[in-house]
Amino acid sequence: MKTRIGLLYGGKSAEHDVSMQTAKAVIQALDLEKFEIYPIYISKEGEWIKGQQLIGGVSNVKELAFTNQQALPQAALTPSLFQASEEGQFDVIFPLLHGPNGEDGTVQGLLEVLNLPYVGNGVLASSAGMDKVIMKNIFAQAGLPQVKYTWFIRSEWEKAKEDAYMKVENDLGYPCFVKPANLGSSVGISKCTNRSELDHAFAEAFQFDRKIIIEEGVTAREIEVAITGNDNPECSVAGEIVPKKDFYDYKAKYEDGDTALIIPAEITVAEYDELNTMGIKAFKALDCSGLIRADFFLTREGKWYINEVNTMPGFTPFSMFPLLWKHTGVEYPQLIEKLVNLAIERHAEKQ
Ligand code: ATP
Ligand code: MG
Ligand code: MG
Ligand code: MG
Repeated sequence: MKTRIGLLYGGKSAEHDVSMQTAKAVIQALDLEKFEIYPIYISKEGEWIKGQQLIGGVSNVKELAFTNQQALPQAALTPSLFQASEEGQFDVIFPLLHGPNGEDGTVQGLLEVLNLPYVGNGVLASSAGMDKVIMKNIFAQAGLPQVKYTWFIRSEWEKAKEDAYMKVENDLGYPCFVKPANLGSSVGISKCTNRSELDHAFAEAFQFDRKIIIEEGVTAREIEVAITGNDNPECSVAGEIVPKKDFYDYKAKYEDGDTALIIPAEITVAEYDELNTMGIKAFKALDCSGLIRADFFLTREGKWYINEVNTMPGFTPFSMFPLLWKHTGVEYPQLIEKLVNLAIERHAEKQ
């Protein structure tokens, strides 16, 4: 019997478009001899739209954003998902969603309540991994090396901007990075080298979130690993990102296409061992399951810092996560199957 996958994509998030690319790639890679695919699109406005079973794949991303005739408002879809779960219509849900309202535990919570198996991280790991402040606090507690950081909520900043800037300058200095606490794909992130840039960066980041994080800027290589598994996670070979620009911003990630991904990264065996240990430690510290991509900095002096983990990393065949597994010996279609199996296995263990 074929495995019936409900593919959730799009999403009410600044990373909507990235998710669309991913969904198209996953649909193209899934073996229709083994899987039935049922698309569920979430528009940028947060409307849920269920499509018919996909028989012949899709040729472009626009096809995946369904028209209104198939539209079901969110209120109607939740009961219909509920019914689908009651009737055992899906074997597994694949939430291919990045950023808030998808990668952050909200959708995972819905799927838990519906008792549907789903790919990737559970509620806790997803929400803790989405909030960079909470994530860093947990990593600090686990003894993982990190750059210095501080954070503010919007109302605090509005009341005392000068105090906020002085705290950043005293505690972290320049250059520093200002980021929305809950986002990805570098959306809303700025590098600051002076007070006026800091002022702009705060305003920019607060457009995306009520909470922001500010980090000490490091000059370092950017090295990443992919980790897959449940209770016994495995770590891929390492990859290095070499952005042509000042840092790996949204444009460099999705538009310019001239960022070099070097796999495997040129690091020593001892450096890799340390990286592998830290990656697994981060996975366990957040109680992850399924998959993460863990991002690190390596300074010229050989000092590692963990930057972050992504609980639903970019997942097109040209994204770092699948490429790392490819170089480790797991091809893209196999990787998707593996994640589906891990989801079913985890669900069975919970029962
Ligand atoms: P994604 O989820 O797509 O990986 P993100 O939005 O969560 O990205 P980060 O990975 O935290 O953002 O940062 C984006 C990029 O900004 C990094 O890849 C790196 O190039 C640069 N960067 C972030 N923090 C620092 C830092 N503290 N020092 C130096 N560079 C940094
Ligand atoms: Mg991230
Ligand atoms: Mg991300
Ligand atoms: Mg990152």
